[in-house]
Amino acid sequence: MRVLITGAAGFIGSHLSDRFLAEGHAVVGMDNFVTGNARNIAHLIGNPNFNFIRHDVTNYIYVAGEIDAVLHFASPASPIDYLKLPIQTLKVGSLGTHNALGLAMAKKARFLLASTSEVYGDPLQHPQREDYAGNVDSIGPRGVYDEAKRFAEAITMAYHRAHGLNTHIVRIFNTYGPRMRLDDGRVVPNFIGQAIRDEPLTVYGNGQQTRSFQYVTDLIEGVYRLLATDFHDPVNIGTQDELSMTDFAKLINEITGNSAGIVFKQANRIQGDPQTRRPDTTRAQTILGWQPVMPLREGLERTIAYFREVL
Ligand code: NAD
Ligand code: UDP
Repeated sequence: MRVLITGAAGFIGSHLSDRFLAEGHAVVGMDNFVTGNARNIAHLIGNPNFNFIRHDVTNYIYVAGEIDAVLHFASPASPIDYLKLPIQTLKVGSLGTHNALGLAMAKKARFLLASTSEVYGDPLQHPQREDYAGNVDSIGPRGVYDEAKRFAEAITMAYHRAHGLNTHIVRIFNTYGPRMRLDDGRVVPNFIGQAIRDEPLTVYGNGQQTRSFQYVTDLIEGVYRLLATDFHDPVNIGTQDELSMTDFAKLINEITGNSAGIVFKQANRIQGDPQTRRPDTTRAQTILGWQPVMPLREGLERTIAYFREVL
């Protein structure tokens, strides 16, 4: 296959590019570097199966030659990033998704959308199943991301229903691993950066809110399997490794040997920050035969080793 990956210079997009190349496919990577980094794909430059196009996908997308699949991963993903880039976030989820779908149509390609657990908002169902419609505040600060992704899902299903496009939607739960930006503001790089610098870990709010963390290679495996199916409804990909942010901070301090402890920063918690988050992954298990294999501690150790290197 020859695949287009938007957001290829980002954290997940770069790992996805690696996987497709490792499977013997050709990859066209596209990114405008708004939150990504050329370092993430530096090792691919010179690979004859990898081409890179610097482009903002909210503008018409042109790619010469055949494309068999379009994987649309471009979007700011960290709350700090999308609060700084609210309009760009809305545009890449709406206009960017429309352009990526249009390209998939023109090339008669498959299409896969990177959606998110944020479509469930601050969920009133726990764990979250794909048929849960969610609890999103459209005008809250997180609305720019949540509604962009909800629109992206809606237009993806519309292209499937109206044009018969072979589309896929993955709802990604909190994913971590090497190549995350140390300053992207998400909890994993924040905590690990602080721990490596022997600083106290900043827990926002009362620390009782939960997240379920998955290592990036597990996510990529789920995405790779989903693309090969003819399944069109959304599929959750994430783990059952649900922790409160206080317990997560303690775990990072324990693994890194950081004795500086924890500080609670009540005010830093963003309005609408989900109180709980854990996927029901029955669908991924049934349709894809997928389940995560990386133990949390080992995944964190690998990520910590990466951040020690880049620091
Ligand atoms: P990231 O910020 O590292 O990567 C996103 C990439 O998209 C960046 O390289 C950025 O420069 C690029 N981009 C943004 N707008 C663009 C535009 N208009 N044109 C071209 N490129 C553009 O974030 P990530 O964590 O790798 O997330 C990748 C995708 O996965 C996003 O769509 C995100 O919403 C989704 N996702 C990630 C997570 C997670 O936990 N990491 C969870 C749910 C969903
Ligand atoms: N968080 C925290 N300390 C930090 C950064 C984040 O306690 O230094 C919390 C944040 O309030 C949220 C959770 O960690 O409840 C996950 O936040 P993140 O920004 O990683 O992404 P989200 O899952 O909210 O999209």
